[in-house]
Amino acid sequence: MNVNLATNLLECDAQGLTDWCAERGEKAYRARQLLRWIHRAGVADFTQMTDLAKSLRERLLSEAVVALPAVLQDHVSADGTRKWLLDVGAGNAVEAVFIPEAERGTLCISTQAGCAVNCRFCSTGKQGFSRNLSLGEIIGQLWWARHALARADGERVISNVVLMGMGEPLLNYDATLAALRLMLDDNAYGLSRRRVTLSTSGVVPMMDRLGEDCAVALAVSLHAPNDALRDELVPLNRKYPLAELLAACRRYLDHAPRDFITFEYVLLAGVNDSVAQARELVALVGDLPCKFNLIPFNPFPGSGLARPGRDAMRAFGEVLLAAGLVTTIRKTRGDDIDAACGQLAGEIQDRTRLAERAAATLRAIPIAQVPA
Ligand code: SAH
Ligand code: SF4
Repeated sequence: MNVNLATNLLECDAQGLTDWCAERGEKAYRARQLLRWIHRAGVADFTQMTDLAKSLRERLLSEAVVALPAVLQDHVSADGTRKWLLDVGAGNAVEAVFIPEAERGTLCISTQAGCAVNCRFCSTGKQGFSRNLSLGEIIGQLWWARHALARADGERVISNVVLMGMGEPLLNYDATLAALRLMLDDNAYGLSRRRVTLSTSGVVPMMDRLGEDCAVALAVSLHAPNDALRDELVPLNRKYPLAELLAACRRYLDHAPRDFITFEYVLLAGVNDSVAQARELVALVGDLPCKFNLIPFNPFPGSGLARPGRDAMRAFGEVLLAAGLVTTIRKTRGDDIDAACGQLAGEIQDRTRLAERAAATLRAIPIAQVPA
C-alpha cells in the first residue's frame, strides 16, 4: 500500500466520506457505514468492518487509512484525571484532558498547536502560534479518549466535550466546525449540543457564523470589566472591543442550546480581582443572561502574575452573586495535578499546564460553598 496516496478517512466529514464513496461508484449508505465504524464503533482497521462488501474492504485497504495522531504520553492522576499528549508532527504536541465527575465525564480538547491571540496570562499564547490542527487531529483526540476509556459494559464515559484546550477554536473555524458536526452526528459521537462547549477569546464575526452553522454551548473568555484592561490581557480586544463582544453574545443567544452565555474570568492578583472591578463587571453585563466561571490563575514561570488569595477571590465572587449572577469558582488547588505536570519529561514537557487549567475551568462549585 502506498500510504502517501491513501486518503486518511479521519480527515473526512460525513460529506467527505460520501464523496469518497461516490468517486468509487459506492452507494451513499456505505459512507454512513464507514462513519459508524470509524467514529461510533471506534474501529480503525478495515478488515474488522464486517458488514462492508469484501470488494470495498479491499479497496479501503489499498486506498485509505484511518491515521490517528500518535499518543506520546498517557497520564492518569490519582483523582482520575487523565491526560494524553498527542504528536501532531514537526515537534508539535497537543493535549487532551479527561475529567471524571460524579454526574458527567468531560473531555477538554485542543484546536491549534500554540495560539496567536497571546493573552497575557496564558502559557499557550506565550508559545506562539505553530499551526491549525486538522479535522483528523481534532476529532482524533475524542477518538483516542473514547477508545482509551471504553468500558466493558459499553456505557459512555465521555458525556461532555469542551473546546478549552490549546488554541483559539474560532481562528481554526473550518476544521473546528467539521469536528463539532461529527461530535453531534448520531452516526458518529451523538453528543447533544448542550454538552459540547466552545470557548472563545471573542472572535466576533466567527461567533455569528458559529451561531448559524452549529450552535453549541458558548463560553466567552472575558477577564476584564473594561476595554483598557482587556486590551492588555486579551490583545484581540483591540480588534473586537467589549461592546461588540457583548452584542455578539446577545445575538448568539438566539441560536444557543442554553439560554445563557458562560463567561470565564481568570482571577489575577492586583490586576482584575478588586471588588470595584467586580462591580464594574456587573454593570458591564447588565441584563445579558449569563453565568460566571471564575478561574484562579495557574502561574507559570516568567508570567509575572499571581493568583489572588482566597479571600480576594471570594469577595470578588460575592459581588457577582449579590447581583444575582450565577457564579462558580474552583474549590482548591489541583492537588496531585501539579505533580502530574512535573512528571512529564523531555522536550515536550507540559508547559501548557492544560490539565490544571482544564480542571480549574471545569471542576467548579458554587461560590457560596467555597470554604472560608
Ligand atoms: N482560546 C480559547 C479556549 C482555550 S483557553 C479561550 O481563550 O477561551 C481556555 C480557558 O483557559 C480560557 O478561559 C483561558 O482564559 C483560560 N486560561 C488560559 N491560561 C490560563 C491560566 N494560566 N490560568 C487559568 N486559566 C487560564
Ligand atoms: Fe489563545 Fe485562549 Fe490562551 Fe488566549 S487564553 S492565548 S485565546 S489559548
